[in-house]
Amino acid sequence: MDYDKNNVFAKIIRKEIPCELVDENKNALAFKDIAPKAPVHILIIPKKEYINFNDFISNASEEEIIDFYALINKIIIKLDLTNKGYRIITNSGKDGNQDVPHLHFHLLAGKNLGFMIS
Ligand code: AMP
Repeated sequence: MDYDKNNVFAKIIRKEIPCELVDENKNALAFKDIAPKAPVHILIIPKKEYINFNDFISNASEEEIIDFYALINKIIIKLDLTNKGYRIITNSGKDGNQDVPHLHFHLLAGKNLGFMIS
């Protein structure tokens, strides 16, 4: 499967459409989900073109992978979520119900999130 350069997150990276920026570093970007499923619902994406987790881990540089996880961790600390708790999800492909074909992690928090799959 080829990367779709017209997906909505590619447009956010190119600044063709706006986002509610939370934080960023050289290789990753974090912004608020447009349809939040919890009081805290932040999406973290790599800035380069990766379709899903497998594509990212197989093809990204170590620096990109470190920057991606470091940005998530920075936000967890900044929002004081270490004690309260949070959930990180990434959906991939058809069975994962992935809607946007650019790797993104959902960081969800701010209330008890219930069971993982209902
Ligand atoms: P997924 O089903 O894992 O691919 O999730 C895609 C997520 O992207 C959903 O939670 C959407 O609400 C979110 N989303 C779609 N378009 C935008 C946008 N323009 N800005 C922020 N979040 C978006």
